[in-house]
Amino acid sequence: MCHHVTPCPDPTSEARDLAAVVSSHPEQGWSLLCNGVVLFDDDGELLPDGQAVGDHHVWLAPELVQA
Ligand SMILES: [Zn+2]
Repeated sequence: MCHHVTPCPDPTSEARDLAAVVSSHPEQGWSLLCNGVVLFDDDGELLPDGQAVGDHHVWLAPELVQA
């Protein structure tokens, strides 16, 4: 469904939040990305398959997640 010259990251990719914003709703605190991911202001995400993801930026520091 992506028609960008540089294809947006797949929703299963860890770079999914780098996809282009196609519908922004700052007053409601979320944006719809080109790959179908809903990105929330608190860095949480809702994936196209319905899976909810917390603050995914924590993934960059896995030692904190395992604590
Ligand atoms: Zn795209």
